[in-house]
Amino acid sequence: MKQNILYSFRVLVLITLCVTEQVFAQAGEETPVPVPVACVRRHIETLASDEFAGRSGASALMAAEYVTDQFEKLKLQPVFAEESFLQVIPGPVDEAGNSTTAGWNVTARWTPAGAQFPNEYLIVAAHHDHLGSRKSGIYYGADDNASGVAMVVEVAKSLIRSDIKLDRSVLFVSFDLEEHLLFGSRWWTAHPPVPLEDIKFVIVADMLGRSLGDLPIDSVFLCGAEHGSGVRKTVSKIPFADTVQPVLLSDDFVGLRSDYGPFRDRKIPFLFASTGQSRDYHTMVDTADKIDFEQVAAISTGLARLIVAIGNQQKAPEWIESPEIDPSEVKAILEICRQIDEHAVEWELTAIQKFFVDQTRSRAERILSQKTITPEDQRWLTRTTQMLLFTVF
Ligand SMILES: [Zn+2]
Repeated sequence: MKQNILYSFRVLVLITLCVTEQVFAQAGEETPVPVPVACVRRHIETLASDEFAGRSGASALMAAEYVTDQFEKLKLQPVFAEESFLQVIPGPVDEAGNSTTAGWNVTARWTPAGAQFPNEYLIVAAHHDHLGSRKSGIYYGADDNASGVAMVVEVAKSLIRSDIKLDRSVLFVSFDLEEHLLFGSRWWTAHPPVPLEDIKFVIVADMLGRSLGDLPIDSVFLCGAEHGSGVRKTVSKIPFADTVQPVLLSDDFVGLRSDYGPFRDRKIPFLFASTGQSRDYHTMVDTADKIDFEQVAAISTGLARLIVAIGNQQKAPEWIESPEIDPSEVKAILEICRQIDEHAVEWELTAIQKFFVDQTRSRAERILSQKTITPEDQRWLTRTTQMLLFTVF
């Protein structure tokens, strides 16, 4: 993809961009300062380095400590006992009868000065763990999910340095053990540092630095907005950089993919942000050199803006149990099919993949030409999109 062509260019601009990190916005700004590409890059290259050994077990603790260090530098507040940013996730009792530790979640709080609802919380979260090292080598997990962690840290920095007006508090969370059936976020929501009813909106990011099947599409999928009242509308008003196209999709379409699951189960409005699974998903070649750092920075800036928009609403989003599919989602599916079709030869699609895409396209077109989306259409869309986004490529 375009990353390779842009790679050397980015090396050149890195030094220039690092200067941006030192820039503080004027007090009372309403738009958060853009997230610097150089900083995103530094986090991803660090977390996906040999030293961090794939971030599992003891090396996941290194990642947790890295994030803690970033939060301390930003002077965020710890939320766990004994002024700690770390939440211990207990493991099974060992043979000697001693308790063990399975992992560590990280959480920091920021309560903006003058916030109208300081006891209401928004969450910005990602998971820092990955698959670790095996005999065959290190699973670096640059996209999954060093990219998401970079977003969390940089959104925190952007909001704080912008001296933004914000009426709600924010929790910045880095989960462990996502790769183990979401155990980190399950533990966190079962042992939350603030009452769950005070959590009004959650953003979870997983994989922001590549693209779906490495196809040349510049979409960031934003899933689940339909469950929060007014969230779709707010998201659609947020300006994202021209290089990133936000695509709203129903969470039904993506199933359970990441740490938003335990929040969704508790009916807390959420948004799951992802650029989709690349072809290197869960392989040893999900490495930092393949990451589109500009894309991660642009998405992070957009999400910081979204936090400001929702954080300043007089009424926080409320849970909607059974939302309807919006025609724009069918259009988004069509657009993905169109782009895949366009590159079918280049991407060496198999006959089966091509057949699947064509079938999806014609049925999506038919659904769009109808006045309403029937429950049967909805079921079909859900099944098909799940396959399209996660199994076909
Ligand atoms: Zn992940």
